[in-house]
Amino acid sequence: MEIGLDQQQEDKEIRRKVVSVNPATGEILREFQCASDSDIRAAVARARAAQGAWNGLGARRRIAVLREFQRKLHEKKSDIAAAITREAGKPYAEALVTEVLVVLDAARFLIDSAHRLLCDEPVPHGNLATKLKSGQLVREPYGVVGIISPWNYPFSIPATETLAALVAGNTVVLKPSELTPLVALELQALLHAAGVPKDVFQIVVGDGATGSELVHTSIDKLVFTGSVATGKRIAVAAAERLLPVVLELGGKDPMLVLDDADVDVASSAAVWGAFVNAGQACLSVERCYVHRSLYQTFLSACVEKTKKLRVGNGMDPQTDVGPMIHERQLRIVESHLEDAKARGARVLVGGSRMKEMGANFYTPTVLADVTHEMRVMREETFGPVLPVMAFDEDDEAVRLANDSEYGLAASVWTRDRVRGERLARCIRAGTVMVNDVISCFGISEAPHGGVKASGVGRTHGRFGLEEMVRLKYVDSDRVPRMKKVWWYGYGENFRRQMNGFLDMQFARGLSQRFRGAVRASAVLRSKKL
Ligand code: NAD
Repeated sequence: MEIGLDQQQEDKEIRRKVVSVNPATGEILREFQCASDSDIRAAVARARAAQGAWNGLGARRRIAVLREFQRKLHEKKSDIAAAITREAGKPYAEALVTEVLVVLDAARFLIDSAHRLLCDEPVPHGNLATKLKSGQLVREPYGVVGIISPWNYPFSIPATETLAALVAGNTVVLKPSELTPLVALELQALLHAAGVPKDVFQIVVGDGATGSELVHTSIDKLVFTGSVATGKRIAVAAAERLLPVVLELGGKDPMLVLDDADVDVASSAAVWGAFVNAGQACLSVERCYVHRSLYQTFLSACVEKTKKLRVGNGMDPQTDVGPMIHERQLRIVESHLEDAKARGARVLVGGSRMKEMGANFYTPTVLADVTHEMRVMREETFGPVLPVMAFDEDDEAVRLANDSEYGLAASVWTRDRVRGERLARCIRAGTVMVNDVISCFGISEAPHGGVKASGVGRTHGRFGLEEMVRLKYVDSDRVPRMKKVWWYGYGENFRRQMNGFLDMQFARGLSQRFRGAVRASAVLRSKKL
């Protein structure tokens, strides 16, 4: 029997699978069939059908559901953190702080602020020609929001984006990373238990092709978090049908340690910032620039602190650094290290796999004598590597920080906050922290997002919520019986009167303005009430 093309295509989809694996042990946690194209389209259709009723509840009742979600998440915090550690490898404490806490607080922000931020907003008019009209900004949900998320923060990234989308009245179809579907299912269970109807939040499990199919459905907005390469592919697909997108992409975040910085504090920050989540954070310290006067002391402090880190299974409470997610990430790290060593970098600590611990463990690594010719200073390494380079002048440090295709975040370390904040303004990045790293992601009020290749749009905070709504401007004329002065009836008089009207508002001298007002007043008399 011949199988038709559609059937062949369908069979191919049915055969595609994703496998969830514990990166610390290699244990297979569960296998999933990828959602087929028709499953994905059906999920979007159900989401669309459910959206009107969800939006119709109003912001206050949706906020009540969020409050219930927050309560349930708090109750189940240990289970959720353990599920994250099992599937993504990070230490349990990190799962609790950088994932569960971030989501609890994002819910707190929306519970406190979403109603106010989603309210209609009056738009006062300055132009005298439009004074008789009243304007309002109305925020309307897009409809169905597609979310595509990565594996490195498998809970906090999709959850924070989902909460904002839902509270604004959208329904959501989430395509989680193929490496971490189980954590996404935990999120789904919590949302449904909190009272989010099942068609209002749905998950389609699958790989890159599943994500691509979601982009090609009739979703009304897409929030994508992932690599620059995938982000660019998505931007092209989205452009075809002018699908609005938020793209949260990769980073190569610089850390600038100025000559007056506290070396002990800054070196601890560098070590944590480079190795938290085994260096697999979009906001990781990926490049460190240290004033030459501190360079050697700073390096020694980093080496000493790095040597003390305990690498292991994230479920062990003693573990500081867990495994990397996948063999392919380790290969990227190795290739950056090889390139750096070949070009003269020195490995001060680390620089190898820890095969005795399992397939995915890599030693936290500190590199000295690096340059901008090396891949480790230009491409996203996304692993536990801290390359440190010396600089002489603040301007040089800023130039080096800006010498990158990326622009997600950066940090400046100094005892002088004014100096730090001045430099922060010179660095091209979505966020610059003075005397801290990474924690901006956990500040629920702060917008998160990048410039240059690090993406477009924002998540989190007020601006993240604004991404989930269409702005509609409603203009309402207070004098419905008056014809507009700018309508037909042109002629010499009209020209004179309009000239007067412009003078009345914009001429420099008072007397010229007064004469303009006299000429303009005739125009009002010419329009019948
Ligand atoms: P990735 O781009 O490989 O995958 C991200 C998601 O996109 C996954 O769900 C994947 O299945 C899906 N996908 C892959 N190809 C697709 C396609 N053609 N169409 C639609 N979807 C597709 O990224 P990753 O390896 O999962 O995550 C790591 C990257 O994410 C790093 O570059 C990191 O910096 C970045 N990241 C950025 C942020 C941020 O907020 N800016 C946060 C976390 C991670």
